[in-house]
Amino acid sequence: MSITLNPNREKSLLRRHPWIFASAIRHVDETHASGSTVDLLSSEGQFLARASYSPNSQIRARVWTFNDEPVDKEFFRKRIRAAIEVRQQLKVDSHSNAYRLLHAESDGIPGLIVDRYENVLVLQSLTAGSEFWKETIADLLVEETGVTTIYERSDADVRELEGLQPITGILRGTLSSFIFPITEYNLKFNVDIAHGHKTGFYLDQRENRHGVGELSKDRDVLNCFCYTGGFSIHALANGAKSVLSVDSSADALALLEENIALNHLPADRHTSLEGDVFQLLRKFRDANRSFDLIVLDPPKFAPTAAHAEKASRAYKDINLLAFKLLRHGGLLFTYSCSGGIDAALFQKIVASAALDAGVDATIIEHLSQGSDHPVSLHFPEGMYLKGLVCVKG
Ligand code: SAH
Repeated sequence: MSITLNPNREKSLLRRHPWIFASAIRHVDETHASGSTVDLLSSEGQFLARASYSPNSQIRARVWTFNDEPVDKEFFRKRIRAAIEVRQQLKVDSHSNAYRLLHAESDGIPGLIVDRYENVLVLQSLTAGSEFWKETIADLLVEETGVTTIYERSDADVRELEGLQPITGILRGTLSSFIFPITEYNLKFNVDIAHGHKTGFYLDQRENRHGVGELSKDRDVLNCFCYTGGFSIHALANGAKSVLSVDSSADALALLEENIALNHLPADRHTSLEGDVFQLLRKFRDANRSFDLIVLDPPKFAPTAAHAEKASRAYKDINLLAFKLLRHGGLLFTYSCSGGIDAALFQKIVASAALDAGVDATIIEHLSQGSDHPVSLHFPEGMYLKGLVCVKG
């Protein structure tokens, strides 16, 4: 079973980028089932890689291996073992019992995300290839981690591009509750793995939440797009004078309140506000409110480069308002998780927001996702989270 590429379209594969777009393909030798394994051949018939086939997607094939080796259960066992070993070396579990175990392409299994929440694994299968091998991979995860419960959260919109329906539910083992506490830097968070965003928690921000905590003492903190309160809990636990948390999701705010109680934090220093950040920031500006530390962690405004222009305006809007609301010497922690906006563009947007706000600001740190979300050198798309810490002059 093979796919032959157009002349000169092997270049990205030779650089070990794992995606083949439909436009690069000259010929598919026969009808292949969705997710089945195919050889990728150069226009001259030379073997380049072995990949999964996605007949419905513009990304028509994703590489499993650049070697001429079988893609079978033992192949996936090697990949899973390697991912586990990396996490062991990182010692992620020394400050959290929740971390990403498998980060798709960057761990050599395109389309597959597995997050570990203590004794439960939450699996997200996003592509035809990961779907094809899902049951095998589920068996392997149980064998290799010793964790017996796997919950599936394959309900991300991108599955549609692969012609896949959303699927959620228990894949292995049993669960007595969908909500249970995890620990992050000695703080507890209730995570709802069935109804929460992504697999339940934004694990990628762990180190950044800790960083905000360390700088929160005696500060008035505004946490925008707070979800279940990640940054707020760290800030409160580290002696923030006040924390105002804003999100449009009432469910997320309800969990945030639970998380404050779970950690016995001073509820009188905290306020939850349900609403739209874009509107509320304007309201705060009109009321002359000000803060010492502001966090902006919005959802993905630009999933792809095609959305970059509109998204840039939205990022600029909230950053401009945040700069205005900051006191002199105040800190802005601003993030983007948009695949369509790279780090250089994000910095430009924040710079132009500062300019239009009429403030002087300095970047004191560049941030990214935690190391349990590694990035393959050959797959820069794996680095999706960009963050800047700015101090207002
Ligand atoms: N900082 C969080 C994760 C933020 S995820 C953490 O560390 O856990 C983004 C959040 O933005 C989601 O909770 C979503 O409900 C919220 N959101 C999306 N659009 C919004 C808007 N316009 N106004 C307020 N909240 C919004």
